[in-house]
Amino acid sequence: MHELELREACPAAKGSGSAFGAANLDRWKAVYEAVVEWHNAGASQAPEVVADIESRIFATWDPVQRAILVELFTAYRRLHHPGVTDVDVNPEGGRWDHRETNTKVTVGVQLDVHDGGNWEAVRIKTGRSGTTELEAAAFYRPGEQRILVDVQLSADDRVTIPRPDPDASGRLLVDVARRWDATIDRPHNRVAGLHCYSCDRPARCGQYPVIEGGVGDIGRWTRTIRISKTRLAALERCQRSSLWPALYAIPKDDPDEGESTSAGLALGNSFHEAVAAALLAEDPDAVFGAACDTVPKSEADDLQSLFDRHGRLWESEAHPVTAHNTEYQFGVTLVVDGLAADSRGITRSKPVAVTMMCATDVNGWESENVAAVVEHRTGVASKALDNEADLYAASAWAALDQTGRDVDGVAVHFHHLRNDPPECERHFFDSEEVGRAIRRLQTVAARIAALHPQDATEPLANPGQWCEWCEWVHRCLEHRD
Ligand code: SF4
Ligand code: SF4
Ligand SMILES: [Zn+2]
Repeated sequence: MHELELREACPAAKGSGSAFGAANLDRWKAVYEAVVEWHNAGASQAPEVVADIESRIFATWDPVQRAILVELFTAYRRLHHPGVTDVDVNPEGGRWDHRETNTKVTVGVQLDVHDGGNWEAVRIKTGRSGTTELEAAAFYRPGEQRILVDVQLSADDRVTIPRPDPDASGRLLVDVARRWDATIDRPHNRVAGLHCYSCDRPARCGQYPVIEGGVGDIGRWTRTIRISKTRLAALERCQRSSLWPALYAIPKDDPDEGESTSAGLALGNSFHEAVAAALLAEDPDAVFGAACDTVPKSEADDLQSLFDRHGRLWESEAHPVTAHNTEYQFGVTLVVDGLAADSRGITRSKPVAVTMMCATDVNGWESENVAAVVEHRTGVASKALDNEADLYAASAWAALDQTGRDVDGVAVHFHHLRNDPPECERHFFDSEEVGRAIRRLQTVAARIAALHPQDATEPLANPGQWCEWCEWVHRCLEHRD
């Protein structure tokens, strides 16, 4: 389903991508192997049996990821109920075929478990997502006796997936098959957005152009690292908090906190959306006012005051900007020397693609020859970090270069809306300064690419006041020397 949504959002997402690390999947495989061994050993809870399996299967992992594997394996054993009479570790999954469009939906199942009168098809889940409606529809075909069960290890839960209504299931499957079919012959136009973070083509599709190199340099097997502007900024403070998620998919301490929907962040998001719509409208006040009507009163006042501050700053600018588009997702890809692991886990020096991504609040022009990028800062003001300005400037320069438009420079504005009075922090990059920004980013990229792709102990912890907001603080404390 995710693949379908991605293709619908961006038709260019269907070409071949490059090699992203799949730490989550690798950990899932290790846990599954341990589960199978454990069943083969009679599902004994004896500590020596468990310790033996853990020491053999998890031995090659670094201590940080080994601790995660042990947590997940422990959760599995806790969730396994004792009434089980028979376990098949090699069961058949579910499958649905649509001849008309030649589409199929498959549902992987890891264990068949007989438990008194029940027959369960068990899916082992180490991440947060469970069986989808579509998968349930494809699994429960007429005649399917088994009950589908998700064993959610990170949530410590067993979830029975109910048998859906057959007519509704049939409609859902056919609809998805048709939607998939409709994506096949669409022209390969790029439509960038947040979905780029789940696409494996950013180093090759051209939206994040390769700097000083051709797209041909990056192949199917080129190790690729994707890093957002937020993580790049975090890197200046603490490698670990930035690269644990970006390189090793280390789960947050409390996954339920999700994308951190703190009040401040939610307000920031509403503001960015509303102002993006208003900036390109003929009557910005009306558009912004309409957006305020959709949020609670307390929030609306705060939004309005931010908008007023934004307006004042926009009008009193020493270098006024004419907005061209808003909320634009772009970036650059830097190919640097680094380490890449082969299928047996052996690492070698190889070129590594590091794709750095950002979204601007506003793209526009200060003058005919000076492009501008504006970021609205709605949090407590602090000076922008070097990486952030460098990334915006390099991305804008590369995007303009693609269109063949010659410019004298790129101005990056950070608008600190909470300052009194609101303040514009402007960085100007002429072509030489863009060159220096690119070299600084290349140095950062090389530092990231030189870390062992599978050893999560390599990025260094750098404790500081930022630990207060860190979402890995408990795990980090357990793994400090
Ligand atoms: S990275 Fe983004 S723009 Fe490029 S193909 Fe993927 S979804 Fe489309
Ligand atoms: S707790 Fe502090 S030192 Fe540890 S990863 Fe987070 S920010 Fe870095
Ligand atoms: Zn400005």
